[in-house]
Amino acid sequence: MARGPYNDSAFFELFLYFLSMSIALFLDRDGTLIRHIPYLSDPAQVELLPGVKAALQHALKKGFLLFLLTNQSGVGRGWFTMEAVEHCNARMLELLELPSPGFTALCIAPEAPDVPSLYRKPSPRFILEMIAAHKLNPAECYMVGDAPSDVEAAHAAHINAVAVGAQFELAGEGQSFPDLPAFLATLF
Ligand SMILES: [Mg+2]
Repeated sequence: MARGPYNDSAFFELFLYFLSMSIALFLDRDGTLIRHIPYLSDPAQVELLPGVKAALQHALKKGFLLFLLTNQSGVGRGWFTMEAVEHCNARMLELLELPSPGFTALCIAPEAPDVPSLYRKPSPRFILEMIAAHKLNPAECYMVGDAPSDVEAAHAAHINAVAVGAQFELAGEGQSFPDLPAFLATLF
């Protein structure tokens, strides 16, 4: 059988590579997915923001990859435990009822602001590690959050920055939207 260009293994591998590329969403938790309560440690207080559940369910059906990226300095300050953060995350996931695979990773930075930061946003480290581990294309990655540190982390990792919420004008050179569902609607 004659070999056309699409049987050439290099072309074919490149084709498969582009076919397999997904949009990846790095999502801040407090003020982006759930109502912002300073130093939240009680799962009973977890409350999804309007439209977030349907928007994330739709994103997963579209094949988007979801990563949670949350600063939880209350742990580093000794005000509550990592276990309390995990219980709050579990409650959020219970409320979201996401189809498989749900979140690909939950990245929690427990450091206090006054110690040398490895993972705490605006550090891009979690984002860069996830890009490497999951072979993501930075051009197809979005960091969505409601704080300047979210936007700064996106810029430091050279991915797309999206600011949401009451202070959404802070995006600067990134995009800004009133909330996460409003942004995701532009990708669907
Ligand atoms: Mg936030």
